[in-house]
Amino acid sequence: MTKIIDGTEVAAAIREDLSAGIDTLAEAGEHPTLATVLMSDDPASETYVSMKQDDCEEVGIEAIDIEIDPEASASELYGTIDELNADESVDGVLVQMPVPDHVDKRAVLRRIDPAKDVDGFHPENVGRLVAGDARFKPCTPHGIQKLLAHVGVETAGAEAVIVGRSEIVGKPMANLLIQRSPDGNATTTVCHSQTADLAAKTRRADILIAAAGVPELIDGSMLRSGAVVIDVGINRVDANNEKGYELVGDVEFETATEKASAITPVPGGVGPMTRAMLLYNTVKATSQERGVAVELP
Ligand code: NAD
Repeated sequence: MTKIIDGTEVAAAIREDLSAGIDTLAEAGEHPTLATVLMSDDPASETYVSMKQDDCEEVGIEAIDIEIDPEASASELYGTIDELNADESVDGVLVQMPVPDHVDKRAVLRRIDPAKDVDGFHPENVGRLVAGDARFKPCTPHGIQKLLAHVGVETAGAEAVIVGRSEIVGKPMANLLIQRSPDGNATTTVCHSQTADLAAKTRRADILIAAAGVPELIDGSMLRSGAVVIDVGINRVDANNEKGYELVGDVEFETATEKASAITPVPGGVGPMTRAMLLYNTVKATSQERGVAVELP
């Protein structure tokens, strides 16, 4: 029997623990505040931001919602970031990606105060993570570490194979799994679009993390028997239903469950964890900046 890893349930437990931390902060007169900045009229980005706002409200984090006209200049966005950096009542600053083409994404990430960079994408925070001294772990790989711990997967000595090398999932995931730490110590392979014979690499995996953004790229024949499969992919594919589409992962669920010992579903696996870990980083930022110790889940 393959265990279905319920990310919704694990995320709910994390949110509950964070609420206790938020109470501790409130007792010390501190109220975590996250500012989200949206410079896009893409409906998916709008949805992501509104979900983040709702998540904050649910646990008692104040959420500031800033929208900038996608036609506005890059300097308008920089000015907004500068103001949020300087605003002592703001603990976390998140600019929803992607930004319009005329805005330099890397310049945006560099502009955010690293102490408020709750996405963990500022080069200083990336460097600290690589050096084994993470301030903020990026939300998706951090959430995956929590899921692996929840299922009791021993990462030490395991063969971990990651499919995808993005800055937000693949690379930080690899950097976390190779750390000399209780939730690291894995022998880690990173595959990408130029990898030769992908199946030969994925079949080595005790822990397979699929983050390629290619619908059902990995099927059961590409898995080792007993592998733990974490499916990060969220792909819209045409479907004969009311919406006209359905969401599928990067893993072919049906054939994968014939081999895997545990697997995350799509939706309801990694996605809720990513959202919960943003709240975690916001509480952590508040605790660090205000000097109030909080027990984090
Ligand atoms: P990305 O497009 O930035 O990167 C995809 C990576 O996959 C690239 O490094 C590429 O080299 C690799 N790749 C592409 N095709 C491949 C192939 N055929 N074989 C091997 N490697 C291949 O994507 P991303 O931002 O990391 O997101 C990946 C997927 O995860 C997307 O479906 C995205 O929607 C989803 N995602 C989900 C969450 C979540 O919370 N569940 C968070 C972030 C991203």
